[in-house]
Amino acid sequence: MEHVRDLSELPKAHLHLHFTGSMRPGTLLELADKYGVRLPEALTDALVSGEPPKLRATDERGWFRFQRLYDAARSCLRAPEDIQRLVREAAEEDLRDGSGWLEIQVDPTSYAPRLGGLIPALEIILDAVETASRDTGLGMRVLVAANRMKHPLDARTLARLAVRYRERGVVGFGLSNDERRGMARDFDRAFAIARAGGLFAAPHGGELTGPASVRDCLDDLHAHRVGHGVRAAEDPALLRRLAEQGVTCEVCPASNVALGVYDKPEDVPLRTLHEAGVPMALGADDPLLFGSRLAAQYEIARRHHGFTDAELAELARQSIRASAAPEDVRDKLLAGVDDWLAG
Ligand SMILES: [Zn+2]
Repeated sequence: MEHVRDLSELPKAHLHLHFTGSMRPGTLLELADKYGVRLPEALTDALVSGEPPKLRATDERGWFRFQRLYDAARSCLRAPEDIQRLVREAAEEDLRDGSGWLEIQVDPTSYAPRLGGLIPALEIILDAVETASRDTGLGMRVLVAANRMKHPLDARTLARLAVRYRERGVVGFGLSNDERRGMARDFDRAFAIARAGGLFAAPHGGELTGPASVRDCLDDLHAHRVGHGVRAAEDPALLRRLAEQGVTCEVCPASNVALGVYDKPEDVPLRTLHEAGVPMALGADDPLLFGSRLAAQYEIARRHHGFTDAELAELARQSIRASAAPEDVRDKLLAGVDDWLAG
């Protein structure tokens, strides 16, 4: 028999999920109604149909359109209870998909104006994560991500803040938004602060631009993990380096297709990375906009790339090993993967 094992029961860690992008479509529609926000038509169409909006983020205009939709969704998160609801629902959705550990990525700067400033915004988010984690039983932590469209000094401020909140659930530091803007090395000081403060480095790279952007993440930011990183597949020497250094790529196949990085799910180079020995942690990125959540990414590996259950189990192990989960959580999840495979 084939495909008998349910991928939503495979224990895994979810390491690439953005804050607003994790929202349930129905929740966004309700919040928009609550605050009288008129969402762009492309967004409401996507939310109602479950079909991702047609975006070509491989050019700057397409990326700008994507950001506009994202900003519209974010503008509906205005009160602490909205943040609490979003985080609780993200945890519930993750649990349903077999996640045993979630690292959610957020730039608190974007929420600061509506939540009383940068520090209150981060505290509201961390409190929401702690509460949701306690209520649902899902282990959750936060990755604070700087925005590469902003000044590197802002990123430094954010890195210092992230380090200060390490005891409150911040585990990593990221860098997001358009890879074509600014150089990774402009943010090297911010990442040095984060690393020195005990956070892991997980910048985006190798999504919108090629292998060079992944190399920059390694050379300039000393990345422990790379957000996306799929374009490393175009450079065998870089693949060898990622494999040797054990740098995990947080690969988000549905996102890549929705944003036009690849035309079809089968074009996402999952096989190339896997066979090169590059560890991967599959992620949903922005399920709100891309229409699929965590287990669906493993489904793509199975359906479009012929990953066997043993290989899918290995992908799940890679996600768990690359996480910031404490030893006991990891051990429990890894044992669960073995059970899933044996079942
Ligand atoms: Zn991302």
